[in-house]
Amino acid sequence: MAPGPARAALTEFVLKVHARCDLACDHCYVYEHADQSWRRRPVRMTPDVLRAAAGRIAEHAAAHGLPDVTVVLHGGEPLLLGPDGLGQVLAELRRVIGPVTRLRIGMQTNGVLLSERFCDVLAEHDVAVGVSLDGDRAANDRHRIYRSGASSYDQVLRALALLRRPAYRRLWSGLLCTVDVRNDPIAVYEALLAQEPSRIDFLLPHATWDDPPWRPAAGDTTYARWLRAVHDRWRADGRPVPVRLFDSLLSTARGGPSGTEWLGLDPVDLAVIETDGEWEQADSLKTAYDGAPATGMTVFSHAADDVAASPLLARRRSGRAGLSDECRRCPVVDQCGGGLFAHRYGAGHFDHPSVYCADLKELIVHVNENPPEPVRLDAGLPDDFIDRLAAPTGDRVAIGRLVEAQIAIVRALLAEVADRLPAGAAGADGWEALTALDRSAPESVARIAAHPYVRAWAVDCLAGTGTGARQGPGYLSALAAAAALDAGVPVRLDVPVRSGRLHLPTMGTVLLPEVGDGTARVEIGPGSLRVRAGDVTVAVSPGAAGGPRWWPTRRLVAPDVSVLLEDGDPHRDCHRLPADDRLDDAGAVRWAETFAAAWQVIRDEVPGHAEELRTGLRAVVPLRRSGDGVSEASTARQAFGGVAATETDAGSLAVLLVHEFQHSKMNALLDVCDLVDGTGPIDITVGWRPDPRPAEAVLHGIYAHAAVADIWRVRADRQVDGAQAVYRQYRDWTAEAIGALQRADALTPAGSRLVRQVARSMSGWPS
Ligand code: SF4
Repeated sequence: MAPGPARAALTEFVLKVHARCDLACDHCYVYEHADQSWRRRPVRMTPDVLRAAAGRIAEHAAAHGLPDVTVVLHGGEPLLLGPDGLGQVLAELRRVIGPVTRLRIGMQTNGVLLSERFCDVLAEHDVAVGVSLDGDRAANDRHRIYRSGASSYDQVLRALALLRRPAYRRLWSGLLCTVDVRNDPIAVYEALLAQEPSRIDFLLPHATWDDPPWRPAAGDTTYARWLRAVHDRWRADGRPVPVRLFDSLLSTARGGPSGTEWLGLDPVDLAVIETDGEWEQADSLKTAYDGAPATGMTVFSHAADDVAASPLLARRRSGRAGLSDECRRCPVVDQCGGGLFAHRYGAGHFDHPSVYCADLKELIVHVNENPPEPVRLDAGLPDDFIDRLAAPTGDRVAIGRLVEAQIAIVRALLAEVADRLPAGAAGADGWEALTALDRSAPESVARIAAHPYVRAWAVDCLAGTGTGARQGPGYLSALAAAAALDAGVPVRLDVPVRSGRLHLPTMGTVLLPEVGDGTARVEIGPGSLRVRAGDVTVAVSPGAAGGPRWWPTRRLVAPDVSVLLEDGDPHRDCHRLPADDRLDDAGAVRWAETFAAAWQVIRDEVPGHAEELRTGLRAVVPLRRSGDGVSEASTARQAFGGVAATETDAGSLAVLLVHEFQHSKMNALLDVCDLVDGTGPIDITVGWRPDPRPAEAVLHGIYAHAAVADIWRVRADRQVDGAQAVYRQYRDWTAEAIGALQRADALTPAGSRLVRQVARSMSGWPS
């Protein structure tokens, strides 16, 4: 595991690339609030400022060993740079920062100028685009208007339609809505949801104790009521889209990170660079007083570390210690964190609770008292869940739901393994450690639970078969040690060793040939792993390259995805075909190169599937080559998110990954929803196999082959040699199987709906 960023590091940088805007929103904190520094700044960031800014970010990432940094283009309005100007900025950022760390680029825009040309530039540089929209037409036009007073609504909707196109969908990171309590909360929520965003951010209007927010009456918690109404509807809808505000509260209620500077006690790790190169603190401080965000430093004179140490930023990074006395005593401080720093300002200082204190308290209590339903099963699934999964272009939100459901299933399986443990048996300590970690580091436990081959072990272990039985329930300690290593939490546990290998899922394998079968003591410290067995001690720096005793789990990485190259997990060999042994370095490099190229193919040909794979694919398992050299691939019923494949070329791997992940999705869907009516065995003849198949296998085939046909359809459209014939074959197989399955009357209403949707998607395809 790569070492985590040092606490002092900044990881997000907001770049003001264009300081003017083509709208004149009256709630804009850049122009309409106390700080008026925009008046003296250059309109555009000049190339020398950009170069210096990118250099400072790269320098900071290198100094702190940051695995990634985020740069968000902001304004004003960044699209006012024009497509060419924007492309130059993006290219410069990638050129300077890209070689040092993984660079995530975002952009916040009002959207009104967005065009295909812009989208192509944004796609080329892989930019996540957030768009501001305050609700329906009336809500939006209350504030978001041109200087002339004209509405911006139609232009924004046109931009969102562009971002929903399959080619650009992956760019769209979500909607940002500033709350106005005079708007109807449900109408706003529905209007935002209708745009099919991948996330919604609700922001409270910036205000301070000196300049408080509008309320119908003093002391009225109208903002809490408004957000409660949205929350309750969102919850009743089955949480159809992530809403950062509510997700943050749900996360912090479990002791997790807040994921936003608006809430919680996570240290702020963000700084702003203005068009003239001045370092500033968060933009929201513009609402406090003129000059509030200023640091007195520029990218020419000061490094990011200097900014991080500046007094106000240091205070915003000090968690509970930086809060007012009243906040420190507050029962919901861990979730609220005093609200946004700027909202605490009044009478010349920040030692106040938030000006939204009463609203925040009421909202947090309400969300805590109304926790989300677990993912609803069968008839209780959100109405459009099946439709979202049936769409051949894929749907990240629905896959996210499947991932959540899978983690819940794995947690239940782990609890069952633990329940069956006799007192004091191997694994009992591991279970205790795992449950403690679930309170202190739930994200790390969830990460381990999401690994495909943890479920494969648990199922085998409970059934007393295969490698799961051989590893035994003591493997719970391996899971706990892996989660502790991920979280950097110290633990000491006895972990099973089988055939001389001690495996920590998702992390790597310690080689202990002298132990054979037995246990070894694992000690995790901050950034360290020590294993003792008899006279042997192995000390590993988890981020280090492999050595004679340590095989770290390697990753397959492309610019916007990272999955495990899983050639060490003892439970990976649950596929139809035998898993290959640990790859040598040359083999791993070949896999990495082929995967990166295959990922480019998927993004280019079927970007919607790339979105899905990014959300749900966790591991790729190399399979042993067959004698005839034919490319093979496989998924396993009990290993959602794992795809096994033989080594092949990039174009074939792209098809195999999409094809097999469809099977993985179908398996996960069958876990939460009955699709096949099991009242009688029905065998159906299909085009892709000589032998008649049961209804569930036909359903799998339809789902997978529709996706494969979709890829070949794109290739045929691009006149790739032979693609037309392959497309037709997969399309015809799928269409015939749909007809046969429908005639067999073998599906539940949910299964029928899924098949109908697949058929509907295919109906517009060329003959
Ligand atoms: S609810 Fe009020 S007192 Fe409590 S932490 Fe938030 S702002 Fe501070």
